[in-house]
Amino acid sequence: MTASIIDGKAVAARLRASLAERVAHLPFRPGLRVVRVGDDPASGVYVRNKDRAAAAAGFDSATLQLPADTDEDTLVDLVAELNTDPVVDGILVQLPLPPQIRQDAVIAAIDPAKDVDGFHPLNAGRLAMGAPLHRPALVPCTPKGVMHLLREAGARLPGARAVVLGRSQIVGRPMLQLLLAADCSVTVLHSRSRDLAAECRRAEILVAAVGRPELVRGDWIGEGAVVIDVGINRLPEGRLVGDVAFAEARERAAAITPVPGGVGPMTIACLLENTLEAALARRGAAG
Ligand code: NDP
Repeated sequence: MTASIIDGKAVAARLRASLAERVAHLPFRPGLRVVRVGDDPASGVYVRNKDRAAAAAGFDSATLQLPADTDEDTLVDLVAELNTDPVVDGILVQLPLPPQIRQDAVIAAIDPAKDVDGFHPLNAGRLAMGAPLHRPALVPCTPKGVMHLLREAGARLPGARAVVLGRSQIVGRPMLQLLLAADCSVTVLHSRSRDLAAECRRAEILVAAVGRPELVRGDWIGEGAVVIDVGINRLPEGRLVGDVAFAEARERAAAITPVPGGVGPMTIACLLENTLEAALARRGAAG
């Protein structure tokens, strides 16, 4: 079997276009503010891409840049201002933050209704309570993007054996909750798990988010599985690879995401989707 490629770039472009269409019919422009402390080069690329995508889709988006030596109180005060600013629907504080600032304290200061990263404990808690079905929660962008890709790939989710490799707060844990909410039977693996290969081989849906270049080999993939590779790893020679050995896995999977061009482009598209959802919920407007 040679897997079909799940084209995240194309799916993200379609999602952004449909968001732009919805925004064009609103009586206001959804407002997004990204707060960046210092100038970490990796996040710089992300912030520029986000600004471009937000502007193209008709959002009112701006990046607020603070110096690297900003203290926690100053950042929390800025977040408090954005919380009460009526034109701001979504607040994203770019991580990682410099060591003098406690990440948890800043995330907790964001109004949960404007928390478009979905990292606030209230949104994480709602998601863990089954929120997509019962109560609105803002859901972290990368796992939300994975769910879009699974649906685009035609994966049958109810009852499917899903394996999530990685248990971080930003990917693995919310991924578990979203797959569970979609009625999958989910196993989460991490650095203390035994026999990763055998566990992965049982998966009908495999989501890899470990940050280890090509950890998942071809013989870890069950015949006909749908494989989503969240990993983005730069090799010493400069090439980007995922957490899955793509060429090997492609021989066994039914569908697989490439790196780059798979999950990556979905993250920004889902950030815009969250901002629109937050705007509609907060302003009480119909979508
Ligand atoms: P973290 O480092 O926060 O978490 C990694 C997880 O993988 C941990 O749960 C860790 O286990 C587990 N792990 C690490 N090594 C192994 C191993 N050898 N065997 C089994 N489990 C292991 O990473 P993130 O979740 O933030 O990111 C994961 C990857 O996804 C990275 O490559 C990152 O760049 C990428 N990423 C991509 C995004 C996108 O937009 N496409 C967005 C976010 C991340 P333990 O908990 O036991 O330590």
